[in-house]
Amino acid sequence: MIQDVARRIAQEKIAPSAEHYDRTGEFPLENIRLLGENGLMGIEVPTEYGGAGMDPISYVLAMIEVAAGDCAHSTIMSVNNSLFCNGILKFGTEAQKQKYVRAIAEGREIGAFALTEPQSGSDATAMRCRAVKQADGTFLINGKKSWITSGPVAKYIILFAMTDPAKGAKGITAFMVDTAKPGFFRGKTEPKLGIRASATCEIEFQDYVATPDEVVGVEGEGFKIAMGVLDAGRIGIASQAVGLARAAYEASVAYVKERKSFGQPIGSFQMIQQKIADMKCKLDASLLLTLRAAWLAASGGLPGVEGSMAKVFATEAYQKAARWFVQAAAPASLLQFHEPGAAAGDKVVPLPTRNVEAAPPVPAASTRRPRLTTAGVCRSHSSGTSSTLTITHTAMLYGGIQGIAGREALPEIKTLQLESGETKATELGESPKL
Ligand SMILES: Cc1cc2nc3c(=O)[nH]c(=O)nc-3n(C[C@H](O)[C@H](O)[C@H](O)COP(=O)(O)OP(=O)(O)OC[C@H]3O[C@@H](n4cnc5c(N)ncnc54)[C@H](O)[C@@H]3O)c2cc1C
Repeated sequence: MIQDVARRIAQEKIAPSAEHYDRTGEFPLENIRLLGENGLMGIEVPTEYGGAGMDPISYVLAMIEVAAGDCAHSTIMSVNNSLFCNGILKFGTEAQKQKYVRAIAEGREIGAFALTEPQSGSDATAMRCRAVKQADGTFLINGKKSWITSGPVAKYIILFAMTDPAKGAKGITAFMVDTAKPGFFRGKTEPKLGIRASATCEIEFQDYVATPDEVVGVEGEGFKIAMGVLDAGRIGIASQAVGLARAAYEASVAYVKERKSFGQPIGSFQMIQQKIADMKCKLDASLLLTLRAAWLAASGGLPGVEGSMAKVFATEAYQKAARWFVQAAAPASLLQFHEPGAAAGDKVVPLPTRNVEAAPPVPAASTRRPRLTTAGVCRSHSSGTSSTLTITHTAMLYGGIQGIAGREALPEIKTLQLESGETKATELGESPKL
């Protein structure tokens, strides 16, 4: 099952290395390749184009696991799956699918999506990037795009450029860009506050030549393509928020059980319990809204409204959960990399392990202790202890969706032998302040 594979990779590979990548801002190429080799870079891509051949629900479940491990990895995964592969699958030619989708879905190359410009974000039709058709049928492209996720490392990019400014939204065309071709330039990687391992940069085109077979879809229909792809992409963003909300929730539960005030764990105070209950309600509601949108997409519907609802609700739920964790864990949360286990005075306090055996086959995020980064992004990391409460809640959470998720199986994780079994607490080391 792809959810299990995603969870194993997230917990055994991504979460333990997330802090390194977040500190350094390095692109986590090895982990991304591993995700690709296991079908996670093209979950909905049919197997004949190198993907896992699964449906939007499988995509949601896998994305939640990866996001709970680290948000930068899930961001890279989201662009490859939702914005790149799905776009070409829907609108590309057979040759484009074979050439570009296969490379990205197999994790051999990284894909990107370039719509935003320095002066145009929400109002994408105000773009200035121009593609001028030449007498020989090629297009000469000039202009800039900004905030391009994976721009610093992408081999292929779906670009939106104005081919007929007089027609406004109907004068935009989509192109497949090969970043190895002349006329393509990258700016510096943006030093973001968070999600730092997901590389973002400005890109520039100076007399870049696109051939007619590099047009994606029909000339003049680029805006429609961009909006259609973004509609489906919102389900991926919502899934990421669900994964992050889950990590924040688990971090909070672990913290309130460990931290003592007035001689008892702060989790025994009713107002704290109310916060935890509120987080759990919003987490489950986010998950259900996201699954509804995915189910609609899987049934052939247009998930525009449902995907937007899931995205707005889940991202707000996540932000609220993370903010509350920061509030509860202050002043420790002022440290850049905070280990909740330190809250009781010891570095890591083992939580009770009863009922672990009774839990369904979801050793899950609960075998990891979540941690918090500067940007309030919670993610798991190994500690070698288990939390009964999180096991129980995770089991409840997954119990309801296992039936949907268990439809297809991916076998063992390919290529890299992952550590399994007992995990070790990561040394805290020095925690730089903000
Ligand atoms: C980390 C990151 C990664 C990104 N990755 C990509 C990528 O891979 N590819 C890509 O093309 N783009 C990417 N973007 C850009 C992103 O899509 C834009 O930031 C987004 O479209 C919003 O545009 P803007 O930031 O220019 O805000 P603006 O459009 O300038 O909006 C400013 C504010 O005004 C509000 N606003 C705008 N219009 C209205 C309106 N009609 N009614 C009410 N409020 C309004 C907005 O909600 C916002 O709060 C990325 C951005 C970030 C931060």
